[in-house]
Amino acid sequence: SETVERIAAGEVVTRPASVVKELVENSLDAGAGSVTVEVDGDGTERLKVADDGHGMSEADAELAVDHHTTSKLSGSDDIERVSTLGFRGEALPSVAAVATLDVTTNDGGPRGTRVLVEDGETTTSPAGRATGTTVEVRELFHNRPARRKSLSNTEFGRISDVVSRYALVRPDVRFRLRHDGRDVFSTPGSGSYTDAVLGVYDRTVAGQSTTFDHEAAVEIDGDEHSLTVEGLLVYPSVTRSRRDHVHAAVNGRVVGNAGLKRAVVSGYGTLLPSGRDPIAVVSVSLSPALVDANVHPSKDEVAFADGDAVESAVEEAVHEALTTADL
Ligand code: ADP
Ligand code: MG
Repeated sequence: SETVERIAAGEVVTRPASVVKELVENSLDAGAGSVTVEVDGDGTERLKVADDGHGMSEADAELAVDHHTTSKLSGSDDIERVSTLGFRGEALPSVAAVATLDVTTNDGGPRGTRVLVEDGETTTSPAGRATGTTVEVRELFHNRPARRKSLSNTEFGRISDVVSRYALVRPDVRFRLRHDGRDVFSTPGSGSYTDAVLGVYDRTVAGQSTTFDHEAAVEIDGDEHSLTVEGLLVYPSVTRSRRDHVHAAVNGRVVGNAGLKRAVVSGYGTLLPSGRDPIAVVSVSLSPALVDANVHPSKDEVAFADGDAVESAVEEAVHEALTTADL
């Protein structure tokens, strides 16, 4: 029912930045090597995510905009061990409940498919497109004026933050962010964390124009039992600001986890001058069975079976990388 859709939408789709996050995660789940995000204004008029992932067949594309369909689970206990970023089949239908959803996709066939959902009506037609998927969202929250009004002009900053974090933790994927027809940043998809950090950070760090000195970057590459930590630490740091420059991912998914971020800062220890913040990209991989990814519908938060063990492994990996580096 429409009520159910509105409620579900409220959980996953709270603002343009959360829509972008869901769409980018879908692109990564589809194995994209390249993800382009385009935003007009605060993202409510129009936002678009295009990828070169495996795409969808016509039938799958129609299913994808329908409620509670996900192609990412084959059995119920998979939910415990899920390794993809999305697995609830809620994002696209939730967006369609509060916006015009325009999906163009091709799974490698001779022609692609366009599925347009507008005012609850779904129309399917053939479309020209190379393999991959483009999801355009227009008139977001047109039927929820209060929510739309509550967005401030800092919304693009949040969107940029979401895309930056994914670009940093997935250096193997080419990312490009455009705003009002202008390039904001891009990363080359070379697989190098340094290249990704340069792509995201070479313009502005904490609001100041800064050139990133990649001589002062340290690759972390630690392996503690079944847990691996990789990423990049920028030394020494940036002047403390309200922005958070510790970028953390668990099993390829960007997460907010205060303990994990504290562990990174502790790993810098006395190397971090007071009043300074590190720029760090820390990507942790461990058995999905040791991660509870479902603590919050937006999936921003992550909880570990043994948080202390994860935190000390991360702290140690960071400390080790910094102390053995030739800074
Ligand atoms: P979930 O990611 O939880 O499965 P979504 O609503 O985000 O649910 O997406 C529904 C389905 O649509 C996905 O399971 C996937 O099969 C398909 N899909 C969505 N976005 C893409 C994309 N960019 N490329 C390929 N398939 C996609
Ligand atoms: Mg999804």
